[in-house]
Amino acid sequence: MYEKLKSQLVTHNITLVAVSKTKPTSEIQKLYDKGQRIFGENRVQEVVEKHDSLPKDIQWHVIGQLQKNKVKYIAPFISCIQSVDSLALAKIIQKEADKNDRNIDILLQIKIAEEESKSGYDYDQLLKDLVDIKAFANINIKGVMGIGTFTSDETKTKREFDKLMHYFDNLKSNHFSGIDDFKEISMGMSGDYLMAIEHGSTMVRIGSLLFGKRN
Ligand SMILES: *Cc1c(COP(=O)(O)O)cnc(C)c1O
Repeated sequence: MYEKLKSQLVTHNITLVAVSKTKPTSEIQKLYDKGQRIFGENRVQEVVEKHDSLPKDIQWHVIGQLQKNKVKYIAPFISCIQSVDSLALAKIIQKEADKNDRNIDILLQIKIAEEESKSGYDYDQLLKDLVDIKAFANINIKGVMGIGTFTSDETKTKREFDKLMHYFDNLKSNHFSGIDDFKEISMGMSGDYLMAIEHGSTMVRIGSLLFGKRN
């Protein structure tokens, strides 16, 4: 599956984040040996342990809600925090990145799901916080991330993906024009990544399709 997926994504120039949460290091190593370097996790303790025991050139992405008091454990090595959804969290990331004398990439997670309250920034709130977040010297804002509603209703998923694209375009032209770093749209998972690609995704987060179902 990996090779097939990879070639599919390469033609569209899309980055693959292999979501390895709950999966053992042996499974991650297997994919690493095939050339995969970017892995996504949603629990701090798990990503710390996996970082400790796996090759150091793996780029770890946090894709799940992150508690502020746990940022310090991942700050020394984390490559990207995709789930930044408040100024308070960004502030802590800045502080811990600075302490470790490094920069940390982030994505602004924006709420797009029409159903329930999947985490993520309310877009209007994000606009209010943006000046402050942009001023943090040790944070690189690479783009946006969104999680669609888990549904078989394709028109709903499309609407949500379009919403994220619309937010990205607005941010790009009004707040990041000429800033090449701001370019990523992280959307699409195992069940909807093809649709996400059609709708402008630059980065997909794929777990079960690569590793099999999680327990
Ligand atoms: C678990 C998870 C994924 C991967 O989901 P699959 O359906 O297994 O591909 C992607 N994004 C986020 C935020 C996740 O928590």
